Amino acid sequence: MKPLPPNADLIVIGGGVIGQSVAWHYARAGYGRVLLLERGMPAAQASSQAAALLTRLRESAELMAFTRRTDAAIDELEAELGEPLDRRRSGQLHVAASETAADRLQQLASLAARTGEPWEWLGASAAQRLAPWLAADAIRQALLLPAESWIDPYRLAMAYGRAARGHGARLQPGVEVTALQVERERVVGVETTRGAVAAGCVVDASGVWAGLLAGPYGGSLPFAAVRSQYWITASATPKFPLTMPVVLLPDLGLYARPELGALLFGVRESRSAVFDARTLPHDIEGFDTGDGWPALAGIAPALARLSPTLIEVGIRHHVSGLSTYTPDGRYVLGALPGLDGLLVASGCCGSGVAASGGIGQALAELAAGRTPFVDLAAFAPARFGSIDRFSPDWLSRCGAARAGKRGG
Ligand SMILES: Cc1cc2nc3c(=O)[nH]c(=O)nc-3n(C[C@H](O)[C@H](O)[C@H](O)COP(=O)(O)OP(=O)(O)OC[C@H]3O[C@@H](n4cnc5c(N)ncnc54)[C@H](O)[C@@H]3O)c2cc1C
Repeated sequence: MKPLPPNADLIVIGGGVIGQSVAWHYARAGYGRVLLLERGMPAAQASSQAAALLTRLRESAELMAFTRRTDAAIDELEAELGEPLDRRRSGQLHVAASETAADRLQQLASLAARTGEPWEWLGASAAQRLAPWLAADAIRQALLLPAESWIDPYRLAMAYGRAARGHGARLQPGVEVTALQVERERVVGVETTRGAVAAGCVVDASGVWAGLLAGPYGGSLPFAAVRSQYWITASATPKFPLTMPVVLLPDLGLYARPELGALLFGVRESRSAVFDARTLPHDIEGFDTGDGWPALAGIAPALARLSPTLIEVGIRHHVSGLSTYTPDGRYVLGALPGLDGLLVASGCCGSGVAASGGIGQALAELAAGRTPFVDLAAFAPARFGSIDRFSPDWLSRCGAARAGKRGG
């Protein structure tokens, strides 16, 4: 490995989809020299496990600005790299079986209308034609959002990285940041397993581990590591067409999309498992505490009514991973109180892939001393005041946020 440079304008800690997006946005804008340090292989942690939904429709203008930026970033990456990234513009089909869920669909339709996103109501048989694994007689109402899409998250993360290199950024796998260099309450560089590097600014994009290097300064970062899981069915059947939209069933807290002729589907847990980030291994790919299946068993009777097919085909894979959740569903973006020179980009609430373009642009702008294209006040790391992010009470508040999540 080439020695690390003695200094950089920006050091990014973490080579997931967020870190690589920050690096690309900073380098392509010509803000300065970027060094991204990843202790393992790039995009091998949360980013390679995501279910791939790029849900654009969001309940706040800021979140929607992030997801729309990701959509635009994918177009720009394809143009820069000269290759398609295979985003599937399959749409999202929201299906309600109950009156409560039908109300939720009404709210979504109004949100889509207000924000200029295309939407249309579908009859039960039209919805069932798009997703033949659903039982038509269980469909009370169906809303199609045709502009929604999904993408292989690993490919997207690596595309940000390759494009960043094209603009002169250095992305270095296999180097761990072991400490921050702090002088008079300002981060001036990092210590690594390959020596020290001075930096004008450091962005901590280390996912569930974000803030740990900041010691006491990071102790009140308002998020926790929460389990997310999905399953992939055993058989490929024509009932799971490759072209089908992403399906969301709010009655069951379930989302689904096609996966090589089978169906990938995720289920929200009524009580999410939450973890103290200080106790996690460095490799959380396939992180599984072995107790995730009850979430699926709990909805099986209701699922059997909505989709007998899904029950009949059986399950081949179970994927369990960790995301970062905050109690208010807003990300954690910006400076830590009392410590200059360090910006955090984490707390993505299970939508870091969908928001990666917007977060990357906003953090690159902030790191360069510019005004971010989205007002980041709502995402301030200090917005909950002085909390103990590792206390049982805080962990359970973050777990409850995951359990109550309604969108994709
Ligand atoms: C099962 C599951 C399904 C999901 N589905 C979706 C979805 O459909 N849509 C969506 O948008 N999001 C989804 N998510 C969430 C999404 O995966 C995350 O929000 C996103 O990947 C976060 O990216 P990241 O770069 O912050 O974290 P990561 O990808 O975890 O990257 C952080 C990196 O930092 C590195 N690192 C940590 N500490 C150091 C250090 N000291 N020095 C150097 N490197 C370090 C790690 O090795 C890691 O590679 C899902 C998550 C899970 C678990």
